[in-house]
Amino acid sequence: MPKNDNIDNIIDHKLFSEDDIHQMCVRLGQQLTKDYAGKNPLIVGALKGAIFFLTDLVREMDVKEQIDFMDVSSYGDGLESSGNVKIVSDLATDVKDRDVLIVEDIVDTGLTLQFMKDLLKKRGAKSVKCCVLLNKEANRKNDIEVEYYGSKVGNEFVVGYGLDFMSFYRNLSYIGVLKPEVIKLAQK
Ligand code: 5GP
Repeated sequence: MPKNDNIDNIIDHKLFSEDDIHQMCVRLGQQLTKDYAGKNPLIVGALKGAIFFLTDLVREMDVKEQIDFMDVSSYGDGLESSGNVKIVSDLATDVKDRDVLIVEDIVDTGLTLQFMKDLLKKRGAKSVKCCVLLNKEANRKNDIEVEYYGSKVGNEFVVGYGLDFMSFYRNLSYIGVLKPEVIKLAQK
């Protein structure tokens, strides 16, 4: 699979520009600043897809916060959630009595977020909410509450700004829809 050298052959169309993404971060950051005023939330970034979003989002939040990361995986290199979520790398921080905000790139089936929310509640967090950049509702398999999101997206596979396809294209500065033929090629 080529990296970013033939990007026009890979991306069908641009869905969100850098400016669109910035506007989402500003709006969410302002809302979170209000909602977490006077609190000391622990921001839990879901690796690896959320790193770009998290670093932009927290700089729009005027809150005394701490950051940690967790790598949970259910997709592997495939395009559909296996439903079998596992911890690849755990938090270093104790979440007991903390207000936790999970930051995730995209919610699709909802299985990953559900797993993380349940786990952090079980570990004694005072509150566990989530902020995702993109909310893909078409394949949702549970009724998980997505407290904050940047935008809804349709049932298409998006890459860029942290979102990958076979571990590539995370470093695109915009978010684009992958050409269906690229997906088909990879599935052969
Ligand atoms: P869920 O457990 O909600 O089905 O899956 C969440 C994870 O699936 C996301 O963190 C992301 O890694 C992956 N995912 C779901 N939809 C997409 C998509 O359209 N593009 C990319 N790159 N990853 C996706």
